[in-house]
Amino acid sequence: MSSQTLEQFLNENLEDLRGKGLYNVIDPLESPNGPVIKINGRELINLSSNNYLGLATDERLKKAAEQAIEKYGVGAGAVRTINGTLELHVKLEEKLAEFKGTEAAIAYQSGFNCNMAAISAVMDKNDAILSDELNHASIIDGCRLSRAKIIRYNHSDMEDLRAKAKEARESGLYKKLMVITDGVFSMDGDIALLPEIVEIAEEFDLMTYVDDAHGSGVLGKGAGTVKHFGLQDKIDFQIGTLSKAIGVVGGYVAGKQNLIDWLKVRSRPFLFSTSLTPADVAASIQSIEILTESTELNERLWENGNYLKKGLKELGFNIGDSETPITPCIIGEEKLTQQFSKRLNEEGVYAKSIVFPTVPAGTGRVRNMPTAAHTKEMLDKAISIYEKVGKEMGVIN
Ligand SMILES: *Cc1c(COP(=O)(O)O)cnc(C)c1O
Repeated sequence: MSSQTLEQFLNENLEDLRGKGLYNVIDPLESPNGPVIKINGRELINLSSNNYLGLATDERLKKAAEQAIEKYGVGAGAVRTINGTLELHVKLEEKLAEFKGTEAAIAYQSGFNCNMAAISAVMDKNDAILSDELNHASIIDGCRLSRAKIIRYNHSDMEDLRAKAKEARESGLYKKLMVITDGVFSMDGDIALLPEIVEIAEEFDLMTYVDDAHGSGVLGKGAGTVKHFGLQDKIDFQIGTLSKAIGVVGGYVAGKQNLIDWLKVRSRPFLFSTSLTPADVAASIQSIEILTESTELNERLWENGNYLKKGLKELGFNIGDSETPITPCIIGEEKLTQQFSKRLNEEGVYAKSIVFPTVPAGTGRVRNMPTAAHTKEMLDKAISIYEKVGKEMGVIN
């Protein structure tokens, strides 16, 4: 094989991406990531954040973070297992277990880290993992890291899952089997069929693993997809993030005490990466307290989600089959989708286009994430901009 230098590799690949118009240019915000954001001096209605409940800019969270910095400083100083566990981390984990209805919980530096941590702490090369084909990238990477056999099943196709679980179990090739799914799928907003998944798991003795990054704070009156179905006793691993609806940063695994005990001695991001900062932990605790005490923000999120969906649908847009506030607006062809998102931006709406290979070819979409912090006026304005751009580009009549 002919050799290649770093310079050659980068030039070749960057040119290729730029030539195809696929090189993602990042727009820095000049404001908080609230319902209206400022980019290049322009104010835009923001339909692209995961700040579902508006808590990322909540005064109560900011106050909690400030107080934690005053008391504990800005850094935790060490990994959790040396002396980077502050009393605040313990309190957060107790709150998370209560919030999720499990015996215990363990916090990590991100949701991405949770999947790196938890899957490979339990699964190895003698095992197999049944994984929904639309699972998040961090689940895919976590599975690869474990070196278990990865068996993909068609998206939410329970017949396919059952057949593959049966085959894996009867083959006698694997010691442990696990099924992994997102709780809510982020591109379409559909909900995993957890009752059916649990039934199949019981039949073929599979461990169950649900990554509820987009379900927590959203479904089950805020407690998530597992609670939504009342399956707290049936799911072995409940993964969550503190970075989306909770509004801060971090992630967690909730489950039985012995699982959490094991993760504390065997999961590598817990052992080898410095723990969450005092400010992040204190703000997350405050956030969970708000969610536990009141469903007001959760209700407003659903109201706004339904309002936006109704508005776009009445205009004739294809908004797919979302069952959550995530509102895809399916445009179709890739270039047209990118152009549509660009025109929305010029008119005052920030909503990102998502195209192949993130979603199947020909199903390019602009994904809208309404939050509890949007007002009806903001949503009305966004809908009228959608109407203008949709008519102009011939997407609607
Ligand atoms: C966003 C997301 C993550 C990553 O969470 P972070 O806290 O942002 O690292 C993991 N899993 C799923 C399903 C997600 O949607």
